[in-house]
Amino acid sequence: MLEETSPLSSKMRISVDREKLGNFSPNQVRFYLKYSSFVFRALKKPLFQKFLHWMLKKERIEEEAVKAVQVKVLPLRRMNGKGIAGNCDTTRGRIRIYPKTTKFCQIFKQKFGRNTLLAYAGNRARAALIHELLHLKYTVDEKKVRALAKDYFCIFTQKRSAQDSYALCIFTMIFSAKISLEKTPPRVSYDPSIRIKLNETCLRVSGIFK
Ligand SMILES: [Zn+2]
Repeated sequence: MLEETSPLSSKMRISVDREKLGNFSPNQVRFYLKYSSFVFRALKKPLFQKFLHWMLKKERIEEEAVKAVQVKVLPLRRMNGKGIAGNCDTTRGRIRIYPKTTKFCQIFKQKFGRNTLLAYAGNRARAALIHELLHLKYTVDEKKVRALAKDYFCIFTQKRSAQDSYALCIFTMIFSAKISLEKTPPRVSYDPSIRIKLNETCLRVSGIFK
């Protein structure tokens, strides 16, 4: 199976900073453990791995350049308090993917339901991994990476939109893309108010990119 043989997939690990566990309640730790194992599975799905393989080839990024992909259990905040979706140590070839906070997920779940939260969490991690992989080539060109990451994520969501009716809504949530509602496939029950609510909850691009 692809999952077994994909070199990138075999470099993925769930990683926890044990010394930081004490900063969180047992409930929070339980939540983050579930979150990370869900994200881990989402990133390892053969369809996504196949897509990444194609993307790396297209960008002429050697899979060898990726030494490790760590799905971090605990969230990380920048000095300004904003959450980080991922980062890339280009020298070591090490990518880290971080979760949203429990607080954010609670609010999100209340507003949009559990399934949308799961779809959001999985796709946010996918978008972050695409973004960080591109940094291996475009080390400091943040603008280029953002533009390319958006294009690639769009290609991926379009490929799978037949199977996943959430894909387009989630794409909009993650990238705050100005996709007109008319273009939304009719079977997707897209609530126009979602965008307004989303702005309130600050679910926008800031959370996704460094
Ligand atoms: Zn970046």
